[in-house]
Amino acid sequence: MSAKYIFVTGGVTSSLGKGIIGASLAKLLQARGYSVTIQKLDPYINVDPGTLNPYEHGECYVTEDGAETDLDLGHYERFLNAPTSQANNVTTGRIYQHVINQERQGAYLGKTVQVIPHITDEIKRRIRLLEETGKYEIIITEIGGTVGDIESLPYIEAVRQLLWELKEEDALVIHLTLLPYLSSTHELKTKPTQHSVKTLLESGVQPDILVCRTEHSITKEMRKKIALFCNVDANAVIEALDVPTIYDVPLMMLKEKLDKTVLSKMKLSTKNEPDLDSWKNFLVRHKNPKNEVRIGLVGKYVELPDAYKSIIEAFIHAGAQNEARVRIQYIHSELIADDNVAQKLADIDGLLVAPGFGDRGIEGKIIAIKYARENNLPFFGICLGMQMAVIEFARNVIGWKDAHSTEMNPKTKHPVIDMMPDQKKITAKGGTMRLGAYACEIAKDSIAYKAYEKTKVTERHRHRFEFNNKYLQEFEKAGLHVSGINPETKLAEIVELKKHPYFVAVQFHPEYRSTVLNPHPLFIRFVKAAVDYSLNVLK
Ligand code: GLN
Repeated sequence: MSAKYIFVTGGVTSSLGKGIIGASLAKLLQARGYSVTIQKLDPYINVDPGTLNPYEHGECYVTEDGAETDLDLGHYERFLNAPTSQANNVTTGRIYQHVINQERQGAYLGKTVQVIPHITDEIKRRIRLLEETGKYEIIITEIGGTVGDIESLPYIEAVRQLLWELKEEDALVIHLTLLPYLSSTHELKTKPTQHSVKTLLESGVQPDILVCRTEHSITKEMRKKIALFCNVDANAVIEALDVPTIYDVPLMMLKEKLDKTVLSKMKLSTKNEPDLDSWKNFLVRHKNPKNEVRIGLVGKYVELPDAYKSIIEAFIHAGAQNEARVRIQYIHSELIADDNVAQKLADIDGLLVAPGFGDRGIEGKIIAIKYARENNLPFFGICLGMQMAVIEFARNVIGWKDAHSTEMNPKTKHPVIDMMPDQKKITAKGGTMRLGAYACEIAKDSIAYKAYEKTKVTERHRHRFEFNNKYLQEFEKAGLHVSGINPETKLAEIVELKKHPYFVAVQFHPEYRSTVLNPHPLFIRFVKAAVDYSLNVLK
């Protein structure tokens, strides 16, 4: 099957939400019955975002096949309810790495290796890789960064070449821009949009559709003016107003007929109206909650919620499922101490201890977990959050005061969390953790089973350290139940407390698998426990 291509570029400023617009368009096309996927090209030189500090770039998202990717891929999966893969996220670093490796292997036969054609050829090859799967009728490719950036130039050039190579109806460009509002004169300004389209034109790319982010509605005259100056059809000027939730964007784009405009430009049928019933159902539940719960999210990156993007979105999905609004209270783990924990956690109905790396703030996490364990407060630990729960239990219930993870204390006498032997040999940092989907077998006598209602699941991982099975029996005897196990390696994947209304911690990252149409069972169950707690059922 040959695919049609939609390129999404951004102008004027960064952070306009290309990922959300792309995902929303993909959703609408999917809802009309088309098979769609969406890809992100990132202009930075890291081979992947796995080595980036979350403060720099937000969360690192992990796909089924173990790719460490940009957080926009999370939006794609949450909107489309379909998995992405390594092919859906490419960085400049990866492109250059491939070209340089080829050069070292003599693949260019004495030629001078250059940005054009070698780097642009590799970009084009990566763009077309998804078509080779034969699974997609439409491929949306989002070009990261802002038009005019030096680092995006090879990508724009690759798009220009593809537009030339492909038939007119097989490729189009959507340019996302901003119409700034001047409050002193009460007007929206179109000049930055005109300039950013001119910049694209300098690279030989004429956008077909303009999606204009704006705080105020665009008048008919203004649409005409933008169309005239930017050389697009008047119906190809799409208004993208600010909306209360990102999940409203597909419906807003439907109202603006973005999908219809795209399909008719590509000479594809618009006969099937999009089926968005379950999406709308979700929105109704999300916007009309019957209860409200407060979840304390304890982590060390709380100043930048993007660092916990998938967790936050998973709470929105699970909240809607429970007809509850989930309010997240960010609590910095470094600020929790024995003498203030009761006060810090006084107002919450559930505690989530977040993933993370390194020892900053971990004692605060352990203190918070102890409080949840002793006070029947619903608790959910993810990855580092599970490791801290195991350490807390070892120290305060079993009595191994020095119990620790060898990540933080390599010399501890009780390494209850330790590195796997095959991890110990690895020194390189990028892409070397336990990554991607692994099977997990759930014990029937567990909260986890009540949540999943099945014994065989797969979940995604991103970590180096593991529960140390040497201590398994002592933990079980003392009441920490290992309720999820990897069937091949026997690694502990889920632990829970038997004598607690809801105390579940997982070594994997359930948040990566939560989507609008498929909220994650563990998040659903945790929010339910928090609702019960808030209604005094558990207290
Ligand atoms: N730092 C821990 C490890 O590498 C946990 C990682 C995480 O929370 N993603 O095992």
